[in-house]
Parts: sequence; structure tokens; C-alpha cells
Amino acid sequence: MGQTTNDRLLAMTETAKEMVGTCIQCGTCTASCPNTEFMDITPRHMWRLLLTDHMDAIFSSKSFIMCSSCYYCTLRCPRGLELTAAMSLLKQAASKLELKQFRRSSLFYKSFLDSVKKHGRVKEMEFMTQYFMAMKNPVLPFAYAVLGLKLLSKGKVHPEFPFGSKGKLTALFNKVAELEG
Ligand code: SF4
Ligand code: SF4
Repeated sequence: MGQTTNDRLLAMTETAKEMVGTCIQCGTCTASCPNTEFMDITPRHMWRLLLTDHMDAIFSSKSFIMCSSCYYCTLRCPRGLELTAAMSLLKQAASKLELKQFRRSSLFYKSFLDSVKKHGRVKEMEFMTQYFMAMKNPVLPFAYAVLGLKLLSKGKVHPEFPFGSKGKLTALFNKVAELEG
């Protein structure tokens, strides 16, 4: 990691750290989280690692990627901590740092949001096409073929290719980026 990357990591993780600074390790967040079984580090443990500066352990884990932003932990934390926002910051840090182990989920997320930004909703075919192109892996589409056909047969995805940018939500996305700095 270069110096600039380290600076960015530091700024984002320091903010996340401040958000969980008064955690009392009660475990309510872990007990409330519907995705704990898919996490290799529980939310309570994550905050402990964050507060003790074990960033390598955190960024080796995929727990914060498994967070679905349901806000249960935030609603139930007895200290009223912004836990979902802290998880989101860790996700953003991993994405901006382009950490190899999160490349796939970062590109999936970006492709999804690019489609929403353009059309005001996700256009499945375009979104997946962009994702496959970004991954630069010619065999990846085959891994999704069975699922794609199943969804098509049930009418859950639509075979439309709405390429071309309408930028329906671009102004909104830009405003959010501006507010987030
Ligand atoms: S619920 Fe809140 S106080 Fe309890 S462990 Fe989780 S973050 Fe800490
Ligand atoms: S917001 Fe994330 S960490 Fe919190 S309970 Fe929901 S999935 Fe778990």
C-alpha cells in the first residue's frame, strides 16, 4: 500500500472507530444481526478489533461485506451507536482501496449502482453485462447461466439492453457524493 492509500484508509477507519468508540461489548448487535452466520467475525468482535487497531484482521475478513444494511444492530445497540454506518465505511474503504479480495463484490455493487444511476432502477441485462466486462473473466457468465435462465423463465429479469445513458439520478448521486466529501 502506498502512502496515499494508507492516508485514505486511516481517515475512513478513524471515522468508523469514532462511531463505535463507546461500545461496551454487550453483544446485542451480534445477537440482532440476521447475517452473523455468514460472517467470519461477528459485529461485536469487529468493533473490538477496530478499537484496538487490528485493521489487518478486519480487512482479511468478509464480515462487513456480508452486512445487508438492515439497521437492526443500530436500532438495538444500547449505546445508540451508528453501527450500520460504520459497517458501510469499512465497505467503502475496502472498495476505494481496491483490496483484491473485495474486487468481485465491489464491481458487482458498482455495476448495480451505475444502472440505477442511469435509469432510476436496475436494468438486469445491462447491469450483468457491465459486471462481466469489468471482471474481465470470459468464463464468469457461464457460472450465472443456469440462474439467469431460471429467472428469465419466471419473468424475474427482462431481456432488454437499454444501453445509453439517460442519467436520471446522476444529480442525486452527485449531491450525495458532495455531502459525503
Ligand atoms: S450492541 Fe452496541 S454496545 Fe453492544 S456490543 Fe454492539 S456496538 Fe457494542
Ligand atoms: S446492519 Fe449489517 S451488521 Fe447490522 S444487523 Fe444488519 S446486517 Fe448485521
